[in-house]
Amino acid sequence: MGFYERLNMPTIINASETYTALGGSLMDPRAVAAMTEAAKGFVDVPELIKRVDEKAAELTRNEAAHVTTGASAGLVLSAAACLCGSDEAALKRLPDCSALARKEILLYRGEYLDLIPYWRMIANTGASLVTVEPSIDALRSAINAKTAAIFLFPGTLYEKDVPDCEETLTALAACGVPIVVDAAAQLPPVSNLWHYTRDLGASLCVFSGGKHIRGPQSTGLIVGKRALVDAARLAACPNPFLGRAFKTGKEELAGFLTALEIFVTEGGDALFNRQLRQLERLADLLREEGIQQLEITNVGRLGTEQPLLHALLPQGKTGEGCNQFTRKLPHPVDIGFYGKEFGKPENLIFLNAYNLTDEQVEPVARAVGAYVRA
Ligand SMILES: *Cc1c(COP(=O)(O)O)cnc(C)c1O
Repeated sequence: MGFYERLNMPTIINASETYTALGGSLMDPRAVAAMTEAAKGFVDVPELIKRVDEKAAELTRNEAAHVTTGASAGLVLSAAACLCGSDEAALKRLPDCSALARKEILLYRGEYLDLIPYWRMIANTGASLVTVEPSIDALRSAINAKTAAIFLFPGTLYEKDVPDCEETLTALAACGVPIVVDAAAQLPPVSNLWHYTRDLGASLCVFSGGKHIRGPQSTGLIVGKRALVDAARLAACPNPFLGRAFKTGKEELAGFLTALEIFVTEGGDALFNRQLRQLERLADLLREEGIQQLEITNVGRLGTEQPLLHALLPQGKTGEGCNQFTRKLPHPVDIGFYGKEFGKPENLIFLNAYNLTDEQVEPVARAVGAYVRA
């Protein structure tokens, strides 16, 4: 009997997103094999971390990189690096920032800031978070002698009425204060792994390892300028500072690095086209179910480069109702819907094939059809 079966938990078909609450994404068998392999022997872990980080920097075309336990931990470690640099005495005192001259972190006060709970993670370092009116001029004027860093949260859903990350970096990359980009879910394209840092001048950029990279759920990546990445690594496990709470094991390091290699080499057109093919078939099947208003876009919800199928359900039906219905089926399906705050039609659903196998396309269509008829 399988693990989930023993716990009496049916597996869910993920037609929505790389949501953490669903398990993010599924690892490629080659990444799982690397974890099994790594579980078979002891190594010098600090040296392993160094070598994995070097490889990750090479693969992502960055000066330096550090593998962490997730993008959230990446945000905390990045903040610690901006606050303390390589000052071990200062790191030891965190979250007490009272002796630091620069202890404020600036963020845009966007309309959707509260939809991105991740920014609050930064406060675990003890930094004072200062939200600024969302304009480049206001951000520039807010920089002062106490500013330790600026954090940006790209993504079309998050950046409503906020100057976008590209614009901000172009205007402020040379302002003298480190800029950290939370690009946890801003993949694909693969080139985003170096776009914000190498191309646009961000000091650090953070990615989730358990979402589009399809590494272990408990992994993430910091990339960027060597001095700051080195400081983030110093703040991290196995060193006895704040990041001791976020331990990446040897197995996770092996799984992540293998997943990153696979993503960098196979995450381009072939991946896009596989999803597009699945969504085209899904659209045909939904048409058979009587749903006529269907549209495939080439842009994901957060502005990423991936196909997405939008379907408008009949009047009186809602996306949220559809999700609740399909999640209760014997083989549950997670259907994408937009929260009310996004001002989209209530009866709109989105379907994403990132985590879908060919065999799962038909059950998704049938599940939506069953809701429409219910
Ligand atoms: C998912 C996400 C995170 C957290 O990533 P983990 O790898 O799960 O810790 C942080 N920021 C944003 C914008 C995200 O979408």
